Amino acid sequence: MALALETPVQFLKGVGPRRAEAFQRMGVTTVEDLLYHVPHRYLDATSVTPIAKAAVGNEVTLVGRVVSKAVVPTRRRLRIFRAVLRDQSGIVECAWPGQAYLDRIIKQGQLLLVTGPVKHYHGRQVVPREQVVLAEPDDEEREDEMGSGMVLPVYPATEGLSHRQIRRLIADHLEEMLGCVTSSLPKGVTGGLGLVSLRQALEALHRPADPSQPEAGRRRLAFDELFDLQLVVARARFLAQSAHKGYQFEIKKELTTALKQKLPFELTTDQRTAVREITRDMTSADRMHRLLMGDVGTGKTVVALFAMLLALENEHQAVFMAPTELLAEQHAHTITTLLAPLGIVPEVLIGRLSQGEKKAIRERIAAGSSRIVVGTHALIQEHTKFWRLGLAVIDEQHRFGVEQRAALIEKGEAPDVLLLSATPIPRTLALTLYGDLDISTLKRKPVSQSPVRTGVRSNKDRAAIYRFLQEQCKLGRQAFVVYPVIDESEKVDLKAATTMATELGKRLAPLSVGLVHGKMKAEERDTVMRSFRDGDLDVLVATTVIEVGIDVPNATVMVIEHPERFGLAQLHQLRGRVGRGREEGHCILLTDDYVSARRLKQFSRTADGFKIAELDLKERGIGELAGVRQSGGFNLRYADLATDDDLVIAARRAALEIIAADPDLSHRPHLELRKRIERRYERGMELFRIG
Ligand code: ADP
Ligand code: MG
Repeated sequence: MALALETPVQFLKGVGPRRAEAFQRMGVTTVEDLLYHVPHRYLDATSVTPIAKAAVGNEVTLVGRVVSKAVVPTRRRLRIFRAVLRDQSGIVECAWPGQAYLDRIIKQGQLLLVTGPVKHYHGRQVVPREQVVLAEPDDEEREDEMGSGMVLPVYPATEGLSHRQIRRLIADHLEEMLGCVTSSLPKGVTGGLGLVSLRQALEALHRPADPSQPEAGRRRLAFDELFDLQLVVARARFLAQSAHKGYQFEIKKELTTALKQKLPFELTTDQRTAVREITRDMTSADRMHRLLMGDVGTGKTVVALFAMLLALENEHQAVFMAPTELLAEQHAHTITTLLAPLGIVPEVLIGRLSQGEKKAIRERIAAGSSRIVVGTHALIQEHTKFWRLGLAVIDEQHRFGVEQRAALIEKGEAPDVLLLSATPIPRTLALTLYGDLDISTLKRKPVSQSPVRTGVRSNKDRAAIYRFLQEQCKLGRQAFVVYPVIDESEKVDLKAATTMATELGKRLAPLSVGLVHGKMKAEERDTVMRSFRDGDLDVLVATTVIEVGIDVPNATVMVIEHPERFGLAQLHQLRGRVGRGREEGHCILLTDDYVSARRLKQFSRTADGFKIAELDLKERGIGELAGVRQSGGFNLRYADLATDDDLVIAARRAALEIIAADPDLSHRPHLELRKRIERRYERGMELFRIG
């Protein structure tokens, strides 16, 4: 039977039901899956040294049969695993200090590849850094498997299926499997990227001729993967836009112009660009789906306000939803102040109002006598009805679930949507995670704010830091002390934060110290936060719940305990809580962990949220980036968003072009593509629902 990509691996010679089951556990069921099951690392065995020639002082790669082995205890209770290897030229002893468990893995008669330094210890002794079993004792015919010039692939393995068995299987069937591979990329898509063909790529990954080949192979698979993803994204975007035609607002220059004239400041260049981009979207026939991204304090609210007024002057309502009552109040306050000269008063709908008040507000919203509405989740409750909702603004959009965002948007017929995010992320990541949205970014803060001074200190400075807190508070300012409770269910951490608050209360007396953490009820937390905002508390001890949250211009100091436990982007968010008023802000990173001091120093010198996000991405990968859309559904296996910028950008451009010309991928040259995407992204479309 001829092999095809869909052929179950079980039909391959050498794969029985048991191995098929083991493969399945790794997500490999078909020949195609097996081809894409690529090595996770390689051993560079391009130069294997004959054992007799392994000289003391050199790094070597050796291949030999295990002729004897033993676990040897030492006086210092360290157990050493030793094995003697033999090839045609001679024998040598290898020693693995502290790795007695290898005795259960390495067997006499096995063919072993080891790499490591040759030392002198009662004669020559190799101390392997790595070892790989190339063949079992009875695999005589594989004795010369290690021909010269070989880069040895090491595969992800599982119980019942060793990497060696996988290597053998793939080597045995590679030619045949590669024969099934056809590229489904339309012509011209990869122009200028210097990518190898799909078949070459897979061969380079499974059977590299030199150590540089796998990377060329990876880049090709990475491009395919990014291209598929961008197609899904581009299609989701197309569907979202074509499902409902948007309102085509007109620039009436009534309210928006009035606001511009009455603002107490000039818009920054970034703000002006963002307003222009938003206006273009809102005046076009397509619905707006735009993400406005910028650090705290870059002035997103003002930009959103222009959009809201554009809806208003076109006889529509605009709604602004924030994730907490405190934030909603804060935005309401900003908006109220800015709109006062125009004689517009926003409506504020939050949970803690009385039933009677809420009822009255809902009536005004339904009747259209209230045109600008700011609020929390209370907005999306069933009995909130809008008269004519033209624009929905969602602050800290990642704090809401898909359903919650959809619920708000569905309050109107086809309102324009503006999402706000205070988590700046690198462009490549944004184009991937938020590829279905248009993106505006605010990079520069209004000049009036000076950067927060950041310093790394150790525990021996604690007394001085407390003195500094006292001085600042005496001047009438306020301080945060943040304690890392990464997982709010961790009792130990929580206790530490609580203890900290009590201790600080004593040490800083007569200053008043409050505490907020994620285990508190939302109302309780809001109460403490409010009293801090209103100046009734001098110092607020907090877990990361304050990361997104209150704006207290009077707070000038942010002390962060154990900063090494936070990602850089998260530290940056925390730092953004101070220095929001006229006084200079101070951020003190308190740690004795000298290993992380370097990255913290680098952080302390960087004020640019986008740069920090890039560093964070390089350090920790996407999964860890705080506050971005969950990426679990489309785990990238081959692409690396920290380095593959060129691939992301090219993939996006190509995908947008193709979807514009053939939204359903139903044209002949795109049929293969469509099949592949349907195979790989069964649930892909779900992930890209904007609402
Ligand atoms: P964000 O929501 O991005 O954190 P805000 O919109 O709340 O930022 O703005 C932060 C503060 O800066 C507000 O007090 C706002 O009035 C002020 N602000 C906004 N834009 C400007 C500007 N162009 N010049 C001076 N101050 C500004
Ligand atoms: Mg804001």
